[in-house]
Amino acid sequence: MDTTQIIKEQAEKYDSFYLYDEQVIADQIARLKRDFGPVEFLYSVKANPAPQVVKRIFSSGFGADAASLNEVKLAHRFNVPAEKIQYSAPAKRKSDIDTALGMATIIADSPKEVELIQQAASEQGIVAEIGVRLNPNFTFFSETGVPSKFGIDEELAFSLLDHWKQFSNIRIVGIHVHSRSQELREELLEHYYENMFALSCRFQEALGHKLTFVNMGSGIGIPYGMEDSPIDTARLGKKMAALAADFADKLSGTQIYLETGRFVSGKCGLYITKVIDKKESMGKTFILLQNTLNGFVRPSLIPFVAHYTTDSNPSPCEPFYTQKDAFQITALTAETETESVTLVGNLCTAMDVVAEDILLPKLVPGDLLVITNAGSYAAVLTPMQFASQDAPAQLILHCDGTVADAMND
Ligand SMILES: *Cc1c(COP(=O)(O)O)cnc(C)c1O
Repeated sequence: MDTTQIIKEQAEKYDSFYLYDEQVIADQIARLKRDFGPVEFLYSVKANPAPQVVKRIFSSGFGADAASLNEVKLAHRFNVPAEKIQYSAPAKRKSDIDTALGMATIIADSPKEVELIQQAASEQGIVAEIGVRLNPNFTFFSETGVPSKFGIDEELAFSLLDHWKQFSNIRIVGIHVHSRSQELREELLEHYYENMFALSCRFQEALGHKLTFVNMGSGIGIPYGMEDSPIDTARLGKKMAALAADFADKLSGTQIYLETGRFVSGKCGLYITKVIDKKESMGKTFILLQNTLNGFVRPSLIPFVAHYTTDSNPSPCEPFYTQKDAFQITALTAETETESVTLVGNLCTAMDVVAEDILLPKLVPGDLLVITNAGSYAAVLTPMQFASQDAPAQLILHCDGTVADAMND
């Protein structure tokens, strides 16, 4: 059955829903594995934590980039081993650390957290192998650092190493850096990897023992707009292999991790919403849809952002705002005659506008609109409680053609 037919069938049951295509997830994973060889991947659960989605990703051998204790628990529940769950988030509480110890590799995000992990490990009578998140003296664009709420400034971390080495219940075995998301320029990623290898060597030397892992974070983008071209992962993988060879004498035996959320799940998702009503007002045609801002918020943020700036290309604010053509909207109708319409939602606020004055085939109540790029930072970012409306369903289309509730274990 083709996807359109599947969508129409599900629309008999649901007025708005996400459809995640397992085959797309499988293809993206296969590509990363093929192109990056010995690099291991951690799935950034926050991109899409639907149980059926994470289950598919973890069963292919990916570890977890967990941004909260609940994400640690989710990965643990799907049998991801502790050394492949990296718990990296700012402002962890002592209670988060108490519970996560033994379930995950904790990445300390501040000097205070290093102390808290030492305290918690000491109370449990264990020695915890941990990583530290660094705020390096470089970015994707410069050879100097920037202030950040994430991690520990590189220089500060180096100056604290001797102090940390005296802590008897922790052993620092890895570093983590995540500098930027949604980058499509390979040369910037390549240069970032170069800087990361050099930093890893410096850190290992100061540490005085082997790093077990280096987590280089994310950055690998996906095409959102029609003009974007997909990133050349084969090229990036080759660069990674060349760097690993260059640094083999120092970093042999150190596991390199990359994290990704959107590369794996971003393109797998469609959002489908039904036309509920249609009205004319003072010369404008409004199409009223089920769950827009409260179903998939990001398309609605595009007119929102445009309202506050005259800049024709406002800078991204990931993961909320990527670019003005980030989502393609198509109507599932045989109608060929078009008209100019404004797409709005069913909320009691005038701001849930999806698109203004766009040309679409003439729609009638019951017709369906399909929005792309709804597999990551979609359902999770959306304020679904607003006005206590029914939330959209989240469905998964399995490789065998069956459709299931993606929220079931
Ligand atoms: C969110 C996040 C990611 C994932 O970013 P994507 O753009 O979805 O790949 C990776 N690492 C860290 C630390 C993150 O916070």
